[in-house]
Amino acid sequence: MSNNILTSRMLQTARFNLEMAAAKLKLGKTSLIRLIEPKEKIELTLHPKLSTTKYPGIKAYVVRHSDTLGPAKGGIRMSPGVTLQDVEGLAMEMTWKTSLIEVPFGGGKSGVCCDPAALSADDKEIIIRSYTRGAVRHIGPEIYVPAPDMGTNEADMGHIRDCLAYSAGKSITSGCYVTGKPVLLGGIVGRREATGKGVIYCLMRACERLGMKFSQAAIAVQGFGNVGSVAAQFAAEMGAKIIAVSDISGGTMNRSGLDIGKVCEHIRKTGKLAGFAGGRDITNAELIAADCDILIPAATQSQITEANCAEIKAKIIAEGANGPTEPKADDILEQKNIFVIPDILCNAGGVFVSYLEYTQETQREQMTIEEVNERLNRRMCKKFDEVYEYSKTNKMTMRQAAMCIAVSRVVAATDARGALP
Ligand code: GLU
Repeated sequence: MSNNILTSRMLQTARFNLEMAAAKLKLGKTSLIRLIEPKEKIELTLHPKLSTTKYPGIKAYVVRHSDTLGPAKGGIRMSPGVTLQDVEGLAMEMTWKTSLIEVPFGGGKSGVCCDPAALSADDKEIIIRSYTRGAVRHIGPEIYVPAPDMGTNEADMGHIRDCLAYSAGKSITSGCYVTGKPVLLGGIVGRREATGKGVIYCLMRACERLGMKFSQAAIAVQGFGNVGSVAAQFAAEMGAKIIAVSDISGGTMNRSGLDIGKVCEHIRKTGKLAGFAGGRDITNAELIAADCDILIPAATQSQITEANCAEIKAKIIAEGANGPTEPKADDILEQKNIFVIPDILCNAGGVFVSYLEYTQETQREQMTIEEVNERLNRRMCKKFDEVYEYSKTNKMTMRQAAMCIAVSRVVAATDARGALP
């Protein structure tokens, strides 16, 4: 085991959750060591030729945490503060997510250390292409298959695919090298909405099982990026009341329900959420403490901490983000009897539809939106039920149950593969 000091709260949370599951499963030390350390971690320094000289050398990271169940899978995070340790923690989370949702992938993640909001579209494309060239030996349908994550999107995935096909001197890549691409370039319909929709499918199932009426629920959503905005929109379509949303600029609240279409329009016009006329401005702290039935943290990691979780009034927390709840907060939430749907279950819809894209591209098939959504809903409900039953039978929280199921699948596959080449 490495002796590096853990400076990343994301990695601390990921390791804590793994050690918790290992203790519950009574895993031996050797098995635990194999699961803690990533299989491979790469640090790149990119020197893209940008229109500004703001970024003289951009750090980028690729971590393949595990490929026991299949090629490493996970998105590319573009953010100014992302560290190698964050990427390591996020890659580990992907291993449990793909295992739990039962797609034949391992876990990986990439990080590109720059601020997408401060880049022109051209400069962002140059950086993404530069990352692709730098990471080319580590990307492939049988190695690591990237996808969008915070700060990256469909267009970026299109550039990655183009860059790889171009280098191979072909029109298409042979097999699926990247998911979350534009539909015209071999992407799948519904992938962009899949994570947010999956959160709501999972929540609706949770309400059913817990005897709550989803259509009467008041919901607060932290984060209005690809996950939060789609989750808010879809929840409203399904009849729930969105009473508060927030983004990096601040939040807005309306106890009679926000018109999410109008919120989106306001953001399109002004570039930020704060100042929305259909609600009153609130802070992020007010959003977390909002008087609601369901809280969806869909922003980033380490948002629900020991310091603010006592304020939470929601009965259910549905983790749209990766690692939004820190372990100490988890204990307090358990004491408060708040039902937490953990990230590796709740936001697994994105990677599930990435898997559909992977199979579609391999077979050069085309799925319809109805088929994608139907399969997504079915898988989210099935997995929710599995985790819920396990948590009841073994008297565990949903996170403990999800982690135990996910880790034991990876351990069983490791044993099945054996120790010798
Ligand atoms: N970035 C997403 C996640 O954290 C999707 C990963 C993927 O589709 O590979 O789950």
